[in-house]
Amino acid sequence: MSDDLENFDVAVIGAGVNGAGIARDAAMRGLRVAVFDQDDVCSGTSAISSRLIHGGLRYLEYGEIPLVFESLRERITLRKTAEHLVKPIRICIPIYESARRGPLLIRIGMILYDLLSVGKTVPGHDMLSRDEAIAAEPGLERSGLRAAARYYDAQVAYAERLVLENLLAARAAGAAIRTHNRVDRIHIEHGAVAGLSYTDTITGETGECGAAVVVNAAGPWVDSVLATTGKRFKKLIGGTKGSHIIVSPFEGAPADAFYVEAAADGRPFFIIPWNGLYLIGTTDIRYDGDLSEVRASAAEVDYLLEETNRVFPAANLGRDDIHYAYAGVRPLPQRSRGPEGSITRKHIIKRNRRIARGLVSIIGGKLTTYRHLAEQTVDKVGKVLGRRLPECRTRAMKLPGAYRIAEAREQLEASQLLAEGGVERLLGVYGGRAIDVLAVQNGDFNDVLDERRTVLAAEVVFAIREEMARTLIDIVHRRLMVGLDADQGRPLYERIADIAGNELGWGEATRNDQLKALVDYSDSLGV
Ligand SMILES: Cc1cc2nc3c(=O)[nH]c(=O)nc-3n(C[C@H](O)[C@H](O)[C@H](O)COP(=O)(O)OP(=O)(O)OC[C@H]3O[C@@H](n4cnc5c(N)ncnc54)[C@H](O)[C@@H]3O)c2cc1C
Repeated sequence: MSDDLENFDVAVIGAGVNGAGIARDAAMRGLRVAVFDQDDVCSGTSAISSRLIHGGLRYLEYGEIPLVFESLRERITLRKTAEHLVKPIRICIPIYESARRGPLLIRIGMILYDLLSVGKTVPGHDMLSRDEAIAAEPGLERSGLRAAARYYDAQVAYAERLVLENLLAARAAGAAIRTHNRVDRIHIEHGAVAGLSYTDTITGETGECGAAVVVNAAGPWVDSVLATTGKRFKKLIGGTKGSHIIVSPFEGAPADAFYVEAAADGRPFFIIPWNGLYLIGTTDIRYDGDLSEVRASAAEVDYLLEETNRVFPAANLGRDDIHYAYAGVRPLPQRSRGPEGSITRKHIIKRNRRIARGLVSIIGGKLTTYRHLAEQTVDKVGKVLGRRLPECRTRAMKLPGAYRIAEAREQLEASQLLAEGGVERLLGVYGGRAIDVLAVQNGDFNDVLDERRTVLAAEVVFAIREEMARTLIDIVHRRLMVGLDADQGRPLYERIADIAGNELGWGEATRNDQLKALVDYSDSLGV
């Protein structure tokens, strides 16, 4: 073994939104924190979501009022603390004669949703007549249309960056963060957690660290992490699979996001303007298979295409129109009966006392509620440690990119390096931290990467030096975010590989291996 880390108060397993949020909160309250992820920051479920910061209108149907209230409160918090990443989005619900939910029911839901959003930072709902709905969205199917409802929620276009910024804040508060480090074993001594062993999946190096508390925030992998204790336990996760497809703006495409009841099964799904494209999803199917093999199935893809074409008939979308798709598994609590949609989206913070003292597992949760989940988890960690911790400060404290935004805009515009779209892109990806990217740019990397002049060469170096990127996949798909474009950023791969290779001292063979892994990864998202 080599490279041992010291002793920590808390070791967090998983750098998804929940692990990242917990690490930030714990470090900000003075705990010594280490974070491990077997892959990169936000490489699990947190990256395959619908990217909405929402109360979850649907949950009202299941009487989950506290969850909706909590989510709406967190939506307000995130708008204030991460305004560069979390933006308001208007959502329209068309109401057809055949719909299971009629105008009255939807209206009641809307009023309740508005009432639960006390102190909200977005406008309230409005109801549209059939004619008003058609005037607002001419591409909408007219046959059987009775009315429509519109309301606001929020969107986090780059969930990856939200997770990253939580980890950057955790690191700034002293946390040690190890990406591409898989936890192989949780050590238990005298009935209590003692630490863990890990392997760096890039270098192959192994190590151990001590930890008084281990927080298992491994999302759908929670049970496989528990298995590393070598103890018997009752399965905690009963995941459901969800898939999305990504297409270009299509004929008759809506200006607003749409929340539509599927004709095939009555399930609601979204058609969302996102990243200059449309994100369409999701499905909800119980899944117990291999978590490394989760792909959008042909049946799911056809379902999403058919349902979209039904509501926007001129779209006429087919498989060839899909740029890529993504799929993953919701880490929901184990429940084998009842429809998938009825499984609670509330999170559970479970102390695994029967396995070991000091072991805590996170079940469920939403992107939207991660901050509150983190606060509750760290409160619990304080109790386990028998320590009175300072109060949580994350409700008011901005994320790192939420400072200096106006100044960043001024500097980007003054530099004249980028086209207008490029300035917006940099602000959307880095917020005020674009100033720090410019500082690198003004050093040795006075160049743009693309013909449209929207991506700076310095971003590649910045991702490595400042944002913990270790592979080309990390850089393209979870730092620069060009991997989410229609072409998945492919025209830039060679240039990015050259700059990254230079920065990280890669030889020709490593560079080519990295490039192949990147292309394979992007290809794997095809349908
Ligand atoms: C289809 C779909 C749509 C969704 N849409 C929304 C939405 O619009 N809004 C919303 O609020 N929520 C949404 N959600 C829910 C939300 O995305 C998830 O609940 C949330 O992202 C879970 O985050 P997590 O951190 O718990 O798990 P993850 O993001 O999966 O993170 C777990 C991490 O643990 C790591 N890990 C696993 N095993 C190990 C190990 N042995 N060692 C080290 N690391 C390990 C993994 O690599 C992974 O990065 C959606 C979920 C799905 C599936």
